[in-house]
Amino acid sequence: LTATTMVTHPLYDYDAYQREFSGCVTAVDDQTNSIALDQTAMYPGGGGQPCDHGELSWLASAASPEPGMSDQASPAWILVAGVRKSDGVVWHQVPAGVVLPPAGTRVTGRLDWRRRHRLMRMHTAMHVINGVIWLDHGAQVTGVDFAPDRGRIDVELPGLPGEFGRQLEDRVNEVLDRDLPIRVEWAPRRDADQDPALIRSKANLIPRSVDPLRVINIVGLDRQADGGTHVRSSREVGHIRVVKTESKGKGNKRIRIELSDD
Ligand SMILES: [Zn+2]
Repeated sequence: LTATTMVTHPLYDYDAYQREFSGCVTAVDDQTNSIALDQTAMYPGGGGQPCDHGELSWLASAASPEPGMSDQASPAWILVAGVRKSDGVVWHQVPAGVVLPPAGTRVTGRLDWRRRHRLMRMHTAMHVINGVIWLDHGAQVTGVDFAPDRGRIDVELPGLPGEFGRQLEDRVNEVLDRDLPIRVEWAPRRDADQDPALIRSKANLIPRSVDPLRVINIVGLDRQADGGTHVRSSREVGHIRVVKTESKGKGNKRIRIELSDD
């Protein structure tokens, strides 16, 4: 089934602020009650960013009436609580019991924007922390993971000075206040291979077939090959709070942060 399913055009790659979209069903998977679409604004997760939540709606066709809808004129919104990507196809999981629409059905979708926007702020904060730690300590970030309300970042640091957390928080918030623009760029692979910032972010580990590379540029601070969604300017993140720093081994320190809504 999936081998022949058309790949999904990732609207979220081009406009992180698109919260509503329309698309067409290309396949369904009865095993997981999931719907594949020709295009979607729902991020399937990756790079430490969890998948979006949202809703889909569609009109019943004459041939297969009544999926999860109230009446023909006003289709119900069906919850999407999981989105995943497999071989370029984005699958939208709907609750068990919802009758899946046949291929070819037009659907409209809308994101849980409150969740997504917090994820965009958090994701952007992670880039700023990454950039600051590189500038101030020459240290590499080795892992990032986050939810709408909290995140953790692992750094290759030999030690943690007592004031590390507070100093990092101050430095990151000062950079966020600068209102740096954040741009999505597409870098030809041969250029990316020469770019020190992209080499540092291990862009060389991305398969050769990916060309051009999508690059998130926090102008004046940090550039990374990246597939996630980000806000447009550093000020839109607000501020962060470092809630904990801990040692996870000799060269590995973990920093836990929250978005601060003050
Ligand atoms: Zn990112």
